[in-house]
Amino acid sequence: MSTDAFILSNARIFTPHDQGVPLRGAKSASVREYRELLVEEGRVAELSESGFKGRNIPRLDCGGALVTPGLVDPHTHAVYGGSRENELPLKLAGADYMEIHRAGGGIASTVRATRAANSESLLEKAKNDLKEMQRLGVTTVEIKSGYGLDFETEIKTLEIIRSLQESMDMNIVSTFMGAHSIPEEYKGNTAGYIEFQIKEIMPKIADMGLAEFCDVFCEEGVFSIEETREIFKAARKLGFKLKIHADEIVSLGGAELAAEMKLTSADHLMAVSDAGIQALSAPGAPVAVLLPGTSFYLRQNYAPARRMLDSGVAVALASDYNPGSCPSLNMQFILNLAYLYLRMRPEEILSAATLNAAYAVDRAKRVGSLDVGKDADFVIWNADNLEYPLYRFGQNLVKSVYRQGRKII
Ligand SMILES: [Zn+2]
Repeated sequence: MSTDAFILSNARIFTPHDQGVPLRGAKSASVREYRELLVEEGRVAELSESGFKGRNIPRLDCGGALVTPGLVDPHTHAVYGGSRENELPLKLAGADYMEIHRAGGGIASTVRATRAANSESLLEKAKNDLKEMQRLGVTTVEIKSGYGLDFETEIKTLEIIRSLQESMDMNIVSTFMGAHSIPEEYKGNTAGYIEFQIKEIMPKIADMGLAEFCDVFCEEGVFSIEETREIFKAARKLGFKLKIHADEIVSLGGAELAAEMKLTSADHLMAVSDAGIQALSAPGAPVAVLLPGTSFYLRQNYAPARRMLDSGVAVALASDYNPGSCPSLNMQFILNLAYLYLRMRPEEILSAATLNAAYAVDRAKRVGSLDVGKDADFVIWNADNLEYPLYRFGQNLVKSVYRQGRKII
């Protein structure tokens, strides 16, 4: 953390403001603009719309550039072995995600590669990916396990996430996702796999403090609503906070379950029902994390973001970076997709990729907006207005990135 104070000056600083809860519906468009920001001891100390006068503090002149809070990516599967470019011809020939999954491809092939990989190579690969995320403006990221699905590899994955937390200059949130798929050795015995998770893996992870959240892929052919509920009940008893992959392909009622059990976030939601949207629009309901990169890559429908926002849902955006359904970690591209295909407005997109995303990983007390007292995590863009990075695509528009007041990019 930097102890030196400085003023970020001659900038167009856009930030949502934290009111202690995620920004729901129209509120997420209430982004304010400032000209200068005072950083002290790595924190946001003061903001000014007109500029600070007569203060003898070093100034960092931004030359009129756009400044935003550091991006928060609240949903990734960034620790994995292998890659899945071999599946693309199958997809292009018409096989869908679940067909590839049933044929032993998809998650199962990444599970085999992750089990076979050693820790050093997995760590090295994840580190390089996280560095690339930083260059693209991300200062906080969530990473899930879930390509191990056995005791040893799930622990190995979470220990790699811990190494990343210790070695990277990033805010990293760890999630256990043993319920990502049913491993080969438990094929036809979902109940046995759930029992194994609840009795053996989860208590160990809780004991070792290796994960803060527990996530479940609630989907037809994966984990049902009732199975998901059972895992969540056990996870909550062990002290995990909860997230869900919900209503991605089939409208199963994952959003309703998320609201009923008061999870932290409900993610995907491409097939969410009207009742699901209704459930997520209640005060205190989970943040809806939308992953348009996955819709793009699977060439499927996009989540009904406009209807969600107009109904008062708190919407966040994430990359879903993973080797199968979204092999891209580029949050800037996610912002493009949110603008073009989710039909979100620039201010809503900013809130969704910063403050609401921070709420989706329970980090809003420290990051997600440039509110006084929060970490001075921000991005200086090669842009002079908020629309420009949403309009350009396929090119990194980040000029520099600061974390806790220190320049990291
Ligand atoms: Zn995911």
